[in-house]
Amino acid sequence: LLINIETSSKTYPVFIGENSLQALTDHLENADYTKILIITDFTVGRLHLDELRTCLSRIMDYCIFKVPASEQAKQFSVYEEALTFALENDLDRKSCIIAFGGGAVGDLAGFVAATFMRGIRFIQVPTTILAHDSAVGGKTGINHPLGKNMVGAFHQPEGVYYFTDLLETLPLSEIRSGFAEVVKHAFIADQEFLDFLMESITDLTKISRTDLNYILKKGIEIKANIVHQDERENGLRAVLNLGHTLGHALETNAGYGTVTHGEAIMTGLVYALYLSEAETDLVMDIHRFEQWLVTLGYRLEIPAQFDFDKAITSMKRDKKSFANKPRFILLEEIGKPVVKEIGEEQLRSTYEKFIIATQ
Ligand code: NAD
Ligand code: ZN
Repeated sequence: LLINIETSSKTYPVFIGENSLQALTDHLENADYTKILIITDFTVGRLHLDELRTCLSRIMDYCIFKVPASEQAKQFSVYEEALTFALENDLDRKSCIIAFGGGAVGDLAGFVAATFMRGIRFIQVPTTILAHDSAVGGKTGINHPLGKNMVGAFHQPEGVYYFTDLLETLPLSEIRSGFAEVVKHAFIADQEFLDFLMESITDLTKISRTDLNYILKKGIEIKANIVHQDERENGLRAVLNLGHTLGHALETNAGYGTVTHGEAIMTGLVYALYLSEAETDLVMDIHRFEQWLVTLGYRLEIPAQFDFDKAITSMKRDKKSFANKPRFILLEEIGKPVVKEIGEEQLRSTYEKFIIATQ
């Protein structure tokens, strides 16, 4: 499967499934890279590095930098170490970085590429379902102790090569995390795709290869289409944050790592559906949707220690909010997102409703 991503700064291919390895080999053979730096995390490195190595070793000079898994990868100290490693290994302006891992590795490696010698090229080789979202669109970055993704740059990759075989080792919680973003993409743009998902996916441990490739392709197409229209998030691109306003608050409040990004976002998405019901004309059987989510193993109930007052404060500080008013992505209908400022009273009363419905 092949998709072309068009942005104002660059057009690049996304390969999904069987031909990806060959496509990457072809790309590397034909490119003028002086050297390759692979950035991966210890987990992905241990499980899958050999596959990438065999494809690279025949072609060119490369070195490997391994980072801690998950959010630990997106620390300043790791970023600095990666730059040091790149300098020590004589990367130059014609070198290329391969991000080999999930979204965290992709965000870090992309940011290293964006900033090393004012920017060198990079390639995404995603190994999680979630990375269908993060590998496309050109946002790269790391975390600041005061906030996630607070330091970053726009930097589009040369290509995305999705070897879906590598996803077989993903733990279920990570499958759930990535699948949540797929569902989000369906809600934003495509009722039929959502219907397909709800009908054909009933067990996340048993998604067929064909379905998986199709799902990733659809998700990427929806994201790419939005990024194409608004690469730098001046407007439309904000709709990709459906579910993320409360989701981020949940993630922060629960402490990174206790709940995966996507699982938090799924809860946020359901809350956004309740808000939509109250604020727009959305007509939808939310209950049926919730039941499907429960079948898939999502836990929608909010942890008892979650402090909604604190959440309101952090939602006001969300990058999407202005003038201290939380802004939410809501749906007028499935496939029709709108951005709306929501008053505190509405947030609270809908939260009550949401809690009652999901406990
Ligand atoms: P991740 O890279 O942390 O991967 C999740 C976990 O799965 C890690 O522990 C990793 O080691 C493990 N893993 C990865 N591939 C595996 C495999 N094939 N088999 C077994 N284990 C594997 O993160 P993620 O969930 O892919 O992405 C989350 C990150 O993406 C967050 O930091 C988020 O901010 C970022 N993100 C960025 C964008 C963007 O547009 N740039 C969009 C969405 C999310
Ligand atoms: Zn997300």
